[in-house]
Amino acid sequence: MLPSVKARVNLDICRNDHRCLPRMHCPAAAISPAEGKIFMKIDEEKCIGCGKCIKVCKNNALFLVRQEVKFG
Ligand code: SF4
Repeated sequence: MLPSVKARVNLDICRNDHRCLPRMHCPAAAISPAEGKIFMKIDEEKCIGCGKCIKVCKNNALFLVRQEVKFG
C-alpha cells in the first residue's frame, strides 16, 4: 500500500461561494458545487492532492487527509 493525499471540505464552513478560489485554482478540476447543497464537493478520483485549494480558500474550509492506496 502507498500513502495518498486527498482534499476534503469542512461542510460547516464552506458556503459555496460563486467566486470560489479553490475551484478556480484546482489544476485537476476536482472541485464543483454540490447540486442542491450549499457546499462544494471534491471528486476524489480527480484530486491529485496538490494542496493549492487549501492555500487559496478564504474561509479555510479545505484540508488534506492521508489515505492508503491498495493495488491489486
Ligand atoms: S488538492 Fe489540488 S487537485 Fe485536489 S482539490 Fe485541491 S487543488 Fe484540486
